[in-house]
Amino acid sequence: MGQNVSGPNRSSPYQFWRLGSNPPLRSSPFTAAYSSIPSLAASNPSPSLAYSIPVSSAVATRRRRVLLRRAAAQGLRGDLRPARPRGPRAADELFDRRERDAPAPVAAPEMEIELQSSPGNKGVGTVISFSASHVKKKYEDAILPAHWKAFETVIFREQDDGLHASAKIAAFDFDGCLAKTSVKITGADKWSLQHKSIPDKLQSLYNDGYKLVIFTNESNIQRWKNKRQQAVDSKVGRLDNFIECVKVPIQVFIACGIGKGKATPDDQFRKPNSGMWWLMAEHFNSGIAIDMDQSFYVGDAAGRENDHSDADLEFAKAIGLKFHVPEEFFGP
Ligand SMILES: [Mg+2]
Repeated sequence: MGQNVSGPNRSSPYQFWRLGSNPPLRSSPFTAAYSSIPSLAASNPSPSLAYSIPVSSAVATRRRRVLLRRAAAQGLRGDLRPARPRGPRAADELFDRRERDAPAPVAAPEMEIELQSSPGNKGVGTVISFSASHVKKKYEDAILPAHWKAFETVIFREQDDGLHASAKIAAFDFDGCLAKTSVKITGADKWSLQHKSIPDKLQSLYNDGYKLVIFTNESNIQRWKNKRQQAVDSKVGRLDNFIECVKVPIQVFIACGIGKGKATPDDQFRKPNSGMWWLMAEHFNSGIAIDMDQSFYVGDAAGRENDHSDADLEFAKAIGLKFHVPEEFFGP
């Protein structure tokens, strides 16, 4: 219910009390946020209780009117008066003055991230400015195989033969979802299928007209400055081998950025941030609007007890995608 059992809130300029209990009891044991008045009123009908309302901002006058309306809707008759022994008029003057003296609202600075309705997407997304001239054949100092390219902190696998843009996107995390891997071991061959049913399931989605996309984080590529080539070869090699194994074309985006820390800014492409999705939706789907009702995302980081994080779940939420955990989607 959100009530604190304490004396009247010292920062609260108003108290609500029923007519007939004037002056309010200064030792009232209840303080509550204004939104909990109805429940407090219902459970504490005693007319002798005073409800202290924390109202300290410049919108106090407007809140006061709202509070009075809410109280009236609850069948409470009363008034809001200053918590300290001032007249109602003095309180009004106080808040008029606060409102008048409050600094003028400052317009939000222009940000790189704008909001827009992306074609076919119900939600609003981050606009990723992308141009082919910013696409590179290397990631930092690491050389990429010919069919892989880098853009900012993302490495992506170029369109394969047979990969078609589609309104229906079947999106997947990689490690712990499609492939069983270990962060301690590197190597293009050091992985196995996470679930036996994966090849059949992916082929059937592809035959149903879905475009398959993998969105995976791999911060070691950025972090391992002295072994970056090894980190790239391992991750990219595993993905290539996986695609060869399941025999179906898949688009892949790898977020190489490091998670937000004291010394590192947030990376818009690293899950749970949704930049990889918008990069795909806005620049790698041939302008085809995405059907969010049919599209979905599968990932193992869902914030469950043994999960290492909830990045996959939050990624899906940020985009407005349906979300599944691998066990549910691929079976045990
Ligand atoms: Mg994972």
